[in-house]
Amino acid sequence: MPTPPSPAVSVLDRPVAFLKGIGPAKAKLLSEDLQIHSLGDLLHAYPFRYVDRTQFHRIIEIMPNQGAVQVKGKLTVLNVRGDGRKMRLTGRLRDDSGAALELVWFRGINVLQNMLVVGEEYVVYGPVQEFNGRLSITHPEMELAAKAATEEAATFEPVYSSTEKLNRRGLDARGRRKLIRALFAQLSPADLPEILPPYLMEELRLMPRAKALHALHLPPNQEVLDAARRRMKFEELFLLQLRLLQLKLVRESQIAGYAFGAIGEYFNRFYRDHLPFELTGAQKRVLKEIRQDLGRGIQMNRLLQGDVGSGKTMVGLMSMLMALDNGFQACMMAPTEILAQQHYESIQEYVEGMELRVAFLSGSIKGKARKEILEDLANGEIHILIGTHALIEAPVVFQNLGLAIIDEQHRFGVKQRAKLWKKNKPYPPHILVMTATPIPRTLAMTAYGDLDVSVIDELPPGRKPVTTVHFTEHRRERVFGRIREEIAKGRQAYVVYPLIEENEKLDLLALEEAYDEMLQRFPRPDYQISVVHGKMKAEVKDQEMARFKNGDTQIMMATTVIEVGVNVPNATIMVIVHTERFGLSQLHQLRGRVGRGAEESFCILLSSVKLSKESRERIKTMVDTTDGFKIAEADLRLRGPGMIDGTQQSGLLQMRIADLANDGKILGVARDRAKNLLSQDPRLQRPEHHALGNHLAKYMQGIKGWGRIS
Ligand code: ADP
Ligand code: MG
Repeated sequence: MPTPPSPAVSVLDRPVAFLKGIGPAKAKLLSEDLQIHSLGDLLHAYPFRYVDRTQFHRIIEIMPNQGAVQVKGKLTVLNVRGDGRKMRLTGRLRDDSGAALELVWFRGINVLQNMLVVGEEYVVYGPVQEFNGRLSITHPEMELAAKAATEEAATFEPVYSSTEKLNRRGLDARGRRKLIRALFAQLSPADLPEILPPYLMEELRLMPRAKALHALHLPPNQEVLDAARRRMKFEELFLLQLRLLQLKLVRESQIAGYAFGAIGEYFNRFYRDHLPFELTGAQKRVLKEIRQDLGRGIQMNRLLQGDVGSGKTMVGLMSMLMALDNGFQACMMAPTEILAQQHYESIQEYVEGMELRVAFLSGSIKGKARKEILEDLANGEIHILIGTHALIEAPVVFQNLGLAIIDEQHRFGVKQRAKLWKKNKPYPPHILVMTATPIPRTLAMTAYGDLDVSVIDELPPGRKPVTTVHFTEHRRERVFGRIREEIAKGRQAYVVYPLIEENEKLDLLALEEAYDEMLQRFPRPDYQISVVHGKMKAEVKDQEMARFKNGDTQIMMATTVIEVGVNVPNATIMVIVHTERFGLSQLHQLRGRVGRGAEESFCILLSSVKLSKESRERIKTMVDTTDGFKIAEADLRLRGPGMIDGTQQSGLLQMRIADLANDGKILGVARDRAKNLLSQDPRLQRPEHHALGNHLAKYMQGIKGWGRIS
């Protein structure tokens, strides 16, 4: 990349202490507690909420669980209760409606006791809860009503994130508003120049930057605020996409790879004589994408997403055949022995009758067998190697590794993946990462925005979606009855229990108890039950799995160890116990173990009667859809972007204003426009892109956490 012209020094680069009203002590606090060091940081720490000061709820009309409310009323009571460590401060607020609201504090009691005055009128804000039939707010924001009314712009107030320490030192919501006003008083429009090119501003009808920043902090009304937010969201996402796409361009120009020009005998013969089914449209599309990648002479770094059962293995195999056709070896790596073994078996079955040597390697392959594999790998007699991460250990040497496939990407660490790169000289192998964890589009575009992503969004035909129902605990009998019915038809059942690490001992105990109960309900010899859990020795676990797979046992009681990869098409019913203790993506993965055969399958979600709002929503999502992408979207809404599997390592998801759960549309437009712009002016050299280029160079200094997948 060209070195961008160094951006002019701006008033925004000055330290916050430069501002009137901020002494060294406050500056230190801002810097330590909120990472606000410069005036620019202060400007870009946006409010997370706005209070419409003209709107008050009447206490008598407040419903429990309605969320945050703002009320105005008289503090009628203030008491300290309890003693020692369990102290709390309680107050009562009564408004014109005649009804009252409890206020409760557990921290900062002394300060509050001195500050709050019984008999005074306050404006109170916070989320309402119902407790013992009474409405209450814990740790409400309190402001004297008289004072609130005299504030400038008292109609629509920004609220900033804060800490108790900051509040005590006068950097509470009101203090921050003062600072922001002081800041804007010092800035001239020239300090906030437009950075987006005029044609984009016009086309997308965006608010000018200076106006948007001002309105974001001090909005005159909702309408202007909305327009300001849209502008700044677009800017944030647009800059990020520009940077990601630039990185991609750079990578593609620097990291050479083998060009697999030919599609040859292996691929064609397989396609003609061995492919056991018609590929789905999605599989064909993805193979085409991969084939194009492999032919470019640039190292492929592609993420392949596809729901459980969407047929990724076949896509992987056919990609490996492309490598073979060009005289290279290929490997496929899976996170567990069982999964790797399963891949090995299905791939061997697929290529049966072709003169092709497929080998399996894991830590459990030792001695002579291991030595032989390593030798044949080094002299090129093995075409395809499948295994666990034993594959990337030092003694494993390929003759010429052209393609490495990694299944279930999020289980491998970055370091492990980096080892793969070194497995071949002079060029690193092409990399295809396969994941069954659907990542919402918006996350994929950010967390993996500099990579190529392929999606298999279609299941092979003839799959019947799993019928999912929710039962509460007291209908257990009915559930056991359903298991019996399925077994009577010759089918098998999974019963899954949660196992949470911190609670492992207790959970194992619960699993043992549950096993005793199951033994009584499903007595031998009519029924045989397998049990597997993560604390078992691998051999015992594998043995139990095998017994179930062979049909020697009809019921598999398990913890989440069966989550990934186990394939028993005859299992048609899964009961998940304590469903509320599982996350959405985990539930989805688990459910993917049934519905693998031709028979209709069922998933029963057992839960206790009392459920949190979030648990209820998770369960409803599972009942409503089997589409992994929809489930991932729901997960994103419920938990936020940082918690979604496969994205934890990304620092890109901490955004200032954009919200990946809700701003998908803006993101799509931003990526699109960024692509367009770079295709015309990759180095941002045109005059209308100068400001943008300068800003980008600066903005990006503060962001880390990019990476390639491998
Ligand atoms: P994934 O790894 O994506 O979860 P698999 O590759 O294990 O899925 O495929 C699931 C099952 O579907 C396998 O039994 C596989 O043989 C079968 N399958 C894959 N592609 C097709 C297809 N196009 N038509 C029919 N069956 C398919
Ligand atoms: Mg798979």
